[in-house]
Amino acid sequence: MADVVLVNPIIPSWYTEVLEVHPEKDWLKPPVGSPPLGLLYIAAYLVSRGYKVKVLDIMRKKIKKSEFIGFLEQEQPKIVGLVVFSEATVSVFEFCSSAKEWNPNVITVLGGPHVTFMDEETLQHEAVDIIVRGEGELSMAELADYFLQQRGSLNEIKGITYKMNTGKDVEIVRNPGRPYIKELDQLPFPLRTAIDMEEYPMPGTIITSRGCPGSCIFCAAGAISGGRYRTRGIDNVILEIEEMRRIFKIDYITVVDDTFTAFPERTRAFCHYYNKSNSGFAWGCESRVDDVSRELLTLMVESGCDAIQFGVESGVQSVLYSIRKNITVEQIEVAVRWAREAGIRFIACSFIIGHHSDTHDTVRQTLEFAKHLRDSYGVTPFFGMCTPYPGTYLYRNREKLGVTIYSKGWDTHQLIYSNISTKYLTRQDIQRWYYKASELFRDDIKKIENIRLRRSKHKSQSPNIIV
Ligand code: SF4
Repeated sequence: MADVVLVNPIIPSWYTEVLEVHPEKDWLKPPVGSPPLGLLYIAAYLVSRGYKVKVLDIMRKKIKKSEFIGFLEQEQPKIVGLVVFSEATVSVFEFCSSAKEWNPNVITVLGGPHVTFMDEETLQHEAVDIIVRGEGELSMAELADYFLQQRGSLNEIKGITYKMNTGKDVEIVRNPGRPYIKELDQLPFPLRTAIDMEEYPMPGTIITSRGCPGSCIFCAAGAISGGRYRTRGIDNVILEIEEMRRIFKIDYITVVDDTFTAFPERTRAFCHYYNKSNSGFAWGCESRVDDVSRELLTLMVESGCDAIQFGVESGVQSVLYSIRKNITVEQIEVAVRWAREAGIRFIACSFIIGHHSDTHDTVRQTLEFAKHLRDSYGVTPFFGMCTPYPGTYLYRNREKLGVTIYSKGWDTHQLIYSNISTKYLTRQDIQRWYYKASELFRDDIKKIENIRLRRSKHKSQSPNIIV
C-alpha cells in the first residue's frame, strides 16, 4: 500500500514516429538509460516526512493500461504524481484519465519543466487536478500533508496551480511561487531503492547542482531554476557517491548537471577528494567550452574523468551569437584540443540543427566543423533539432524570431522530430539536415553508445525495495 504513487511516463513518439518511418534507423532511438532522479528526489523527501511512496518508471518498463490500473488498485494511493516533459504530455493525460477511471477521487498532481510554464493550459484537461511549478519536494510534501493528514490549506501551498470548484464553475487558482531551495545539502539523496537499478544501462547518475548560469535562448535551464545556479557541497556529493557504490556496486559516475565545471574551484575540490581517497571510480560530466582550462582538464583526467560533453550547438560564429551561447568557434576548438591533450577518452559535442538564424549554408558549415572536430580530435558529434520548449526565450519570442511551430499537440515537440520552420528553413529542410547529420556520424554515435553501455555494467545489489 502506498500514500503516493510517482510515475515517470513514457514518451510515445520516441518509440513510434521515427522508428516507424525509418525502421532502419533504430540507432536514432534515444537512450532511456538512467534513473529518474527528479522523481527519486521527491520520493526521498516524502519518505523522510513519513509517507509511503512507490515509483513506477514506465519510461524504462512499458506497461499496459490495465496493468497500471491494477497497480493502483493494489497500492490504493491518495495521490498520483507524474513528471511532465513536453513530449510526454499526451501520455500523461492518458495516465491521469486511467487513474481517475480507477478512482475518481484520486488526486492527480503534475510537475516538471513543461507544466511549470504551461500550468493553466495543462489544467484544462479534466483528469488533471494540481500542477506543481518549479521544484517539487516541498510542494509535494505539503500536498501530502493536506490530502493525507488534513493539515494546512491548499491556498497556502506555495508553487501550485489548481482547480477550485466555486459551485457555479471551476476556477483555476495560481498560488504565489515557492522560493527555490537554498540549501540543497539538506535534501535527502534520491531514493534509488524505489526502483530496480539493474534495469538501467546507466545507473550511476548524480545531480550536484541545480540550474545553469548560461542564457542560451533555446534552453529552459535558467528559467526552471529561477535564474539561479545552486550547488551542493562536495562533501555531500561524495557521501551520495559512496552510498551508490556501496549499495549498488556502481563503478561509473555520470554527473548530469547542466554544467559541472561552472565553478572550476568546486570541480577542483571534487578532483582533490578523489585523489585523496583513492576511490577508484571513473566518471564523466557535461561542461561548457568557456568553463575549462588545460590545467583543470588535466586534473580531471588524473582524478578519474574519462568522458566530457560540451554543448557546442553550432559551428558558425554568427549563429552562436544569435542564440546567446556566449562562446566562440575558437574557444570550442581550443577546449576540445585541451581535452584531447589532457587524455579524456570520450569527448562528445552536441549540436542543434535549425536555429532561428540557421541557413542551408550555416548548417553545412556546422556539419563540416563537426567533421573537423571528429577527424582532428576524435570528438563524437551528435545532433538534435531546434525545439522551442516552453520557458525558453525562443518559445516566448518565436514570432519575433520568425519561428513557426507546427504541431498543435506537444507529443512531437522534441529534439528528434522536426516541428518548426524558420525564416530560412522549412520543417522538411530541418528534418533532412538532421537525417544527413545522423547518417554522417552514425558510426561515431554507435561507437560511443556501445562504450557507454559496456562501461555502465554493474553488479547491482538493488534490493528492489519499494518503500
Ligand atoms: S544550453 Fe547548457 S549552457 Fe546553455 S543555458 Fe542550457 S544548460 Fe546552460
